[in-house]
Amino acid sequence: MIYSLLVVILIPVLIVLNTYIIITKMQVNLDEELRYKAQLAAHSLNVALLNYVDEPNEVEEVITNYAKFTKDVKNIQIIKKINDDFKIVASLNPEDKGRLVEGQDKTMLAITWYDKNEISTEMRADKRMEIAGQEISFDERLWAVRTPIVNKDGNEVYLANIWVSTKNADINIANTVTVAGIVLVLTIIAVILLILGNSRLFQYAVLFEKLKEVDQMKDDFISTASHELRTPLTIIRGNASILVEDFSRLKKEEITNMHEQIVDSTNRLNYLVNDLLDVSRIEQNRIKLELSEVNVLEIGRKITGEFKNQAKEKGLHIKENFADKPLFSNLDKAKFEQILINIIGNAVKYTKEGEVEVGITSNEKGNSILVRDTGIGMDEDERKQLFSKFYRIRNENTENIPGTGLGLWITKQLIEMMQGKIMVESIKGVGSQFTITFPKNEGKLTSQNKQK
Ligand code: ADP
Repeated sequence: MIYSLLVVILIPVLIVLNTYIIITKMQVNLDEELRYKAQLAAHSLNVALLNYVDEPNEVEEVITNYAKFTKDVKNIQIIKKINDDFKIVASLNPEDKGRLVEGQDKTMLAITWYDKNEISTEMRADKRMEIAGQEISFDERLWAVRTPIVNKDGNEVYLANIWVSTKNADINIANTVTVAGIVLVLTIIAVILLILGNSRLFQYAVLFEKLKEVDQMKDDFISTASHELRTPLTIIRGNASILVEDFSRLKKEEITNMHEQIVDSTNRLNYLVNDLLDVSRIEQNRIKLELSEVNVLEIGRKITGEFKNQAKEKGLHIKENFADKPLFSNLDKAKFEQILINIIGNAVKYTKEGEVEVGITSNEKGNSILVRDTGIGMDEDERKQLFSKFYRIRNENTENIPGTGLGLWITKQLIEMMQGKIMVESIKGVGSQFTITFPKNEGKLTSQNKQK
């Protein structure tokens, strides 16, 4: 997907770059060509003038005829050096004749004269002009070529200043740029259409990923649910059939033990069914919260107490760290109990030795419940997926521990429904710490039912 996106962005960028490079190169080449053409015009003028350099009266006629046959030549001035001055002795523009050249132009002519080499400069017409029937429009670009005019013996006699227009070439370039621009816009439109077409492909790719996820979830669900159903069902069926077939031969404590196992397994099935029902209620927004002012401390103490026996049986110490005054939050009491049962239950379930600490305190962020254990812990990747539906960490430490992978998902949803937050920190092999925070109930008692 990223690759296609890069290609789609790269294509228009390359097209724009390519067009830009071609046009700039073309402009430079054409300019060189025009300059060369202007110099050629200067040389051929010299050839045309060769026989007339010593007859000033003929010079004007030669240049007039010459201009007629050379397209793009807009003006020709023939200049004579008199002492330190440069005087225009013949020109296609009659107004120039007899004028002394001044300023920068004079410097250029002096350099040309002493170097015996032509100098070409680019200029732009500052007004519309008409010279010998040839029109020069405003801002028209011209090459001005100053060149020495020599006699048959090769001695400099005059200087010529020839203006060659680049107008036609400039129009051609402008046309090419317009056509290239249109082609470019069309290409970009085509690429945008391609991107839009591709975006549908991207959507399909995302959908495909989602379907794969859903499919995986379905597999996880079937494997978890069937495993979680089979174990208690096998125990119930086995014990029940022994009780039916061999009841008279069983001792009293054996019968009690079997009954207890049946009750445990039934409870386990009950938890599984309740978890599944909770998931479906949450997903369909059918959870009804009975919010009221709840003493977080009191409930926390009660639920922690309920785990003491189970912890003791595993040899775990339960450490309590409770605030010394009641802490109130606006919660659904039963859901809050369910949250604590899940988190403290997990801490006891996933800890082989050591202790489980339950801390209930208050700080500026709210009332917080901290459950820390010295259990199996988890690594970074496992921690990231912890709150996903059906996610269970599967390794040698967890293979014999029953569970559905739904508890933490349900817990997180319930906490968030009651404006709370849950955070987890964990180190594999060292332990985990879950922190739940609910906003404090500031003062007055508020009771409401919230339909979610
Ligand atoms: P389960 O029914 O499997 O316990 P949960 O959603 O409650 O489902 O937990 C998901 C997984 O997170 C568990 O399978 C377990 O691997 C891991 N887990 C949860 N709590 C702890 C804990 N306190 N210490 C280590 N691992 C934990």
